[in-house]
Amino acid sequence: METLHVFREQGRSARHDSGGDNGVPNEVEEQAKRAVRDAGIQMARSGLVAGTWGNVSSRVSQREMVITPSGMDYFKLEPCDIVTVDLETLTPRGRWKPSVETPLHAAIYRSRPEIAAVVHTHSTYACTVAAARKEIPPILDEMVQIAGGSVKVAAYSLPGSNELVEAVLTALQGRTAALLANHGAICLGRSIQEALVTAVVVEKAAKVFILSELIGGAVPLGPKEIGIMREFFLNRYGQRLQETIE
Ligand code: 13P
Ligand code: ZN
Repeated sequence: METLHVFREQGRSARHDSGGDNGVPNEVEEQAKRAVRDAGIQMARSGLVAGTWGNVSSRVSQREMVITPSGMDYFKLEPCDIVTVDLETLTPRGRWKPSVETPLHAAIYRSRPEIAAVVHTHSTYACTVAAARKEIPPILDEMVQIAGGSVKVAAYSLPGSNELVEAVLTALQGRTAALLANHGAICLGRSIQEALVTAVVVEKAAKVFILSELIGGAVPLGPKEIGIMREFFLNRYGQRLQETIE
């Protein structure tokens, strides 16, 4: 009995030091939950969502993500309210029900290994283009750099449905952003910060597209320029550690 008790205590402290039962260090999961909570607040403050709509997630390992709970006020969320979800089984671990778009976020992480964060917004100009069921053509430098080209619109399906997952994955091919018909936008990133910036850039591109239509229409960039700018953004833009050291 005594031995069993000691063994249990050791087991508990070992788990505490090295991580949870999922093999992810506790600190990594806690940090990801804080980052998702903060991104939700940033998203609401920037006007990319109103009320409790939209959602944010971050990958914590090959097997799991953390995601905002469904229908809760972003400004009242604590890191412990963020839900951990298995990417394959969609089994949640936490005190609240995860976002209704959990199947969509999980499908993105499963099919896009380079992606570490997903932000889903209901921003005004992106929603305007999405309601017209049009794509945003490749019209701005920063847009093609961060999103990879035009922002396509996924065929309409109900929120949280499997059909929506399929439609969005198709619209996201070769891109880090897509519109959801009559609904909103979804933006991916190699970090939460990048996913948030993508959401802001997509909103700006949607606004510029609509305004350009009033003065004769925007002239889209060509595939060659888009390819050069995307490659530059992914591999050479900004301060690179190697360049700084040299
Ligand atoms: P959740 O509050 O469940 O994340 O749903 C909001 C939403 O935008 C659904 O598409
Ligand atoms: Zn939504």
